Amino acid sequence: MSPFPRQDYRALTRYHFDRTPVALDLSDNTNQWGAHPAALEVLRTAGDDALARYPDLYADELRAAVSRRLGVPEACVTTGCGSDDVLDSAYRSAAGAADFVAVATPTFSMALPLARMNGMEARATPWRAALDDPTRLLAGGPALVYVCRPNNPTGEVADTAWVEALLDAAGDDGPLVLLDEAYVDFGGDTFAGRATAHPRLVVSRTMSKAFGLAGLRVGYAVAHPDTTLEVEKSRGPYKVARLAARAAAAALDDQAGWVTRTVEACVVNRSRVEGALAQRGLDLVPSRANFVLFRAPGGEAIADARALRARGVAVRPFPGDMPDGSDALRVTVAPWPLMERFLEALDAHLASPGVTG
Ligand SMILES: *Cc1c(COP(=O)(O)O)cnc(C)c1O
Repeated sequence: MSPFPRQDYRALTRYHFDRTPVALDLSDNTNQWGAHPAALEVLRTAGDDALARYPDLYADELRAAVSRRLGVPEACVTTGCGSDDVLDSAYRSAAGAADFVAVATPTFSMALPLARMNGMEARATPWRAALDDPTRLLAGGPALVYVCRPNNPTGEVADTAWVEALLDAAGDDGPLVLLDEAYVDFGGDTFAGRATAHPRLVVSRTMSKAFGLAGLRVGYAVAHPDTTLEVEKSRGPYKVARLAARAAAAALDDQAGWVTRTVEACVVNRSRVEGALAQRGLDLVPSRANFVLFRAPGGEAIADARALRARGVAVRPFPGDMPDGSDALRVTVAPWPLMERFLEALDAHLASPGVTG
């Protein structure tokens, strides 16, 4: 007998995508303005105690910084090794309430596999259908509902009223509703405050995008204190390294306004690149995040992404994920000189799709 008896688990594959080095990588929505300087300063000035001693069991210093930034009680904050870890813990805490997780797709690539890792099925509801009627996500009684807002990879933000309708329909004995706000700094209103008083709502956030700390692996979630405790129990102690927690806390305080400035620059460049794509006749989904999803110029996302990569620019292919079902590419918004390099590669590809430079 296999030491890994779960069929669903054996069917799962290790997450992977092409990360071979490329001159300009605009494929993963990390911060192209760099890392938060206050976090770098914490790392540069670290002493022995930062490494020789165990960190806090539950990253109290980081929880306090989240509490200050969002104006929510510390008892409502849980943390993790990246928000993937927080999402995983939330899924695990709800596993068993039902045998499946409901996910509005296309969405974050980990939303479906996290269900299978935690012994549940993942049921996908098309994003358009879910937007028409949020109760579609509740059909059959899921253990948890995952919604990304702003959504990755489309950049769309489900209306505030839509989220309220979902929460109302889920009710007090319904599934856990997980709102992934990884990109909320770039657009859309947050439900973090609402989550502190709602027994079923969990709002997750990451330090990997607007705060420029993807390499540090820090994420957190805000929820009602009772829910926070359940998610934290399933996560376990010592998940956030002491240095990572300190660096993230300094970035959250954002005393010199680095996050505010780079987010503003990103939002300006997002409009510019949307204009540039439209000018080239490429359909796009208007974005509220730090990336733009647009129609694959040659109609085949994988081939188009490969051709752009050969021209030195990595973007992420999303076959079939445009609203009309055609293939899409997702590009991360960056400082304008980098966006110009992207547009040059795109123009060269549009001019001679078969040729790689
Ligand atoms: C990038 C991203 C995250 C971040 O995950 P980390 O583990 O915190 O790096 C979470 N959710 C979505 C939708 C993302 O795109």
